[in-house]
Amino acid sequence: MPAHEARGDAPREFDVAIVGGGLVGASLALALAGSAARVLLIEGVAPDSSAQPSFDERTTALGNASRRIFQGLGVWDDLAPEAAAIRTIHVSEAGRFGNARLRAEEQGVEAFGYVIPNRVMGAALWRGLRRAGGVTVRVPARVSAVQIAADGAALTVLGADGAHETVSARLLVAADGANSLVRTAAGIAAEVEDYAQVAIAAAVETDRPHDGTAYERFTPSGPVAVLPLHGGGYGTVWACEPARAAELLALSDTAYLGALQERFGWRAGRFLRAGRRASYPLKLSRAAATVGLRTVLVGNAAQGLHPIAGQGFNLGLRDAALLAERIVGADDPGAPELLRGYSDSRAADRSGVVRFTDSLVKLFASRLPGASLVRNLGLVAFDLSPPAKRALARVSLGFGGPTPRLARGLPLA
Ligand SMILES: Cc1cc2nc3c(=O)[nH]c(=O)nc-3n(C[C@H](O)[C@H](O)[C@H](O)COP(=O)(O)OP(=O)(O)OC[C@H]3O[C@@H](n4cnc5c(N)ncnc54)[C@H](O)[C@@H]3O)c2cc1C
Repeated sequence: MPAHEARGDAPREFDVAIVGGGLVGASLALALAGSAARVLLIEGVAPDSSAQPSFDERTTALGNASRRIFQGLGVWDDLAPEAAAIRTIHVSEAGRFGNARLRAEEQGVEAFGYVIPNRVMGAALWRGLRRAGGVTVRVPARVSAVQIAADGAALTVLGADGAHETVSARLLVAADGANSLVRTAAGIAAEVEDYAQVAIAAAVETDRPHDGTAYERFTPSGPVAVLPLHGGGYGTVWACEPARAAELLALSDTAYLGALQERFGWRAGRFLRAGRRASYPLKLSRAAATVGLRTVLVGNAAQGLHPIAGQGFNLGLRDAALLAERIVGADDPGAPELLRGYSDSRAADRSGVVRFTDSLVKLFASRLPGASLVRNLGLVAFDLSPPAKRALARVSLGFGGPTPRLARGLPLA
């Protein structure tokens, strides 16, 4: 697949145009690679660039359903050697007595999920696309304008060399992230709630190997997640108030490690070295609808979540898997009834994950009298309650509605 195809005689009419080749858009393109649909993927930043915003310093906790989807897409074998299995989840609150520990073996699963660096996932997805062939790619190229009509969408694509071209598609997929240009062009509003928190992501090395435990520690200013990495060390995400985040970002590596250690404690050992820090303002953004005329929104373009529960990409990947299932074999992938059916089939999972994540953020941020007692009792009760543990262990399967075929280990069609 040439990085930037010769556009003179390149095709300009497609069945499906995917705007955004980040984690979700690239997954969708790969799912459609073997289908009869003529698919175009447009991505603004080269996948191996250090500026790629989706494949950056972060690590992602993938649930078991996501692992199965990646197996179906043929990329899991590439990812497995770099994935760290989560065998135990440890949840605690700073300064309080309650904590909960969930063990995968007690739930009858090998692992709750797998932690993989985003760059590794991005590289594997794009390698998969290259291997599979069949998808036309414009990268680096940005969609700069969109016009949508009853029979399809016309896109203006601006190449890195400054040249414009116009392409058309019967279905336009917004996989262009939380500030989606496509969503705006489709006239779909997004409700945005600012959590007034910033997440700082950084990999850290420790003085002892991990045992596959993922930690979530709730603190008064925001949660700290510490996720095991393949080869040792942890991926950390520290969410805190914006002013505190600015101070933390300005610290030296050593001072930052000291602050993180103080916040998180010593459960994972002594933090020795930190990788590059990256920061993310945290918001809940929710599109008013996930489909419009000839348009569908997936991943962060449809919903952007707080990372507290590690659900954003897992949810977006289920969007991609179910959409691919609907598109494969359809006469018209942008037909209104197909889009309505897709939207209905995703509604329960989407609203369940959004509600679950948002209530977790608010419960642990609450300074209301009694809230911390409820949290502590909740954690203790949770630790004692097998049904509650089983329910959380199932979270990675999705919150309702049909489970995508790929997530059940079945082919798309
Ligand atoms: C700190 C942090 C930790 C997280 N941890 C987890 C986790 O453990 N588990 C989990 O499931 N989720 C996690 N998430 C959420 C996850 O990262 C997102 O859900 C995921 O990145 C969404 O992917 P996306 O492809 O929808 O959007 P994005 O990652 O935003 O990608 C959008 C892509 O579109 C491209 N683009 C944008 N506009 C245009 C245009 N006009 N033309 C062409 N291309 C364009 C961009 O270059 C980009 O590549 C975390 C998020 C944060 C902030």
